[in-house]
Amino acid sequence: MMVTTENGWASIPPSKVVRRGITGTNIVLPLHPHDAGFVLISFAAMYNRDIEPLTGGASDEGGYTETNSVYTSNHKSGTAIDLNWNKYPFRRYTMPQERVQRVKQLQAGFRGLIDWGRDCWGGNPIDEMHYQVAKGKPMDAYVEFANELRAGKFALYGATAPTLDPVVVPNPGVGGLLMRGSTGNAVRNLQERLNRDYPRYSRLAVDGDFGSATEAVVREFQQRAGLLVDGIAGPATLKALGL
Ligand SMILES: [Zn+2]
Repeated sequence: MMVTTENGWASIPPSKVVRRGITGTNIVLPLHPHDAGFVLISFAAMYNRDIEPLTGGASDEGGYTETNSVYTSNHKSGTAIDLNWNKYPFRRYTMPQERVQRVKQLQAGFRGLIDWGRDCWGGNPIDEMHYQVAKGKPMDAYVEFANELRAGKFALYGATAPTLDPVVVPNPGVGGLLMRGSTGNAVRNLQERLNRDYPRYSRLAVDGDFGSATEAVVREFQQRAGLLVDGIAGPATLKALGL
């Protein structure tokens, strides 16, 4: 049954969905066929390029869903996406302030056409992973903006790509400590080892991205192994894992 979702767009059946790739990644998300979906996927591409990488692949990002626990969810109209959801759990503020400012800058660059679940419902609920086609904007505004993007705006779809200011996110993995925010092969190895040896409580996406799920499993392991429970995989924890 068709419903009008929260931002005013109509829900769509799976047959109407368009699969859109996030430029710069191998991630494809199902979204609305209108140019609003194109603007939204372009926002995700800019997020990946200028704010932080979408490292989790398909298991860490979301687009259209046919059903949702929220009846008027914009995921049902294919006008919402979730980015890096393991890092940004529902109903919590976990994004560092510096990155929050970057996101707001990106939203301004998109002329307010994309709303953010962190603040668009006044914090009720807080949803930092969630971005959506804004409420109350004319559909034509998306067509116009999509055409500008296709014509080279932000050099997103052009040959060379001058960025917004480059973002440097320090990687706390340096120094042999793997913790929230660490990325790369060492994290991948850690996730693989936990899944292999402790399948009863470790079913992590092996994505090389140390988010809240990985932290929870590390804590569980530390608890069971009689180690200091701090959610940080340092020398003692890695040694106990045989890494
Ligand atoms: Zn969402």
